[in-house]
Amino acid sequence: MCRSELTWIVSEDDGLRRAKCKHCGWVHYPTNAMGVNVIVTTESGVVALLPPGAPVNAPAALPGGHVEYGETPEEAAQREAYEETGLRVEVVRSLGWYFMRSESYPGPMLSFMFETRAIGGQLVGSREGKVAVLPLDQFPSIAPNRTGSQKTMQAYLDLLSA
Ligand SMILES: [Zn+2]
Repeated sequence: MCRSELTWIVSEDDGLRRAKCKHCGWVHYPTNAMGVNVIVTTESGVVALLPPGAPVNAPAALPGGHVEYGETPEEAAQREAYEETGLRVEVVRSLGWYFMRSESYPGPMLSFMFETRAIGGQLVGSREGKVAVLPLDQFPSIAPNRTGSQKTMQAYLDLLSA
């Protein structure tokens, strides 16, 4: 904040290295990124995103993205669902959470999974891909690089079969 040079310190019992300002004493405490993955149901089935470039035999993904600063996970789920499907949704239930210890951008991430239900809007795709509503038993395979979508669909299926 005061634009002085930062230095690396270990000042706490946890032994972690943190950046500290030599001048004003400010310390940077990094935090995990947060994300959401969303099951969106309608009367006809579950909404699939069909991202451009996904494999033909595993073309699907679920809506999702980052939780913005100051936003609740539920609000992020509703916003991402709307941005990526055009549907207004309400949260039905939490499907739990998972943590990914990624070293690359955006770093370690805590993600919340939600089941939601469409309550309005118009189904429309975005730059994230086309959208389709499919009965659950006809839902296409999820692309292999869409780990969050896979975990969320599995949590949803586990819940339905419980
Ligand atoms: Zn400073």
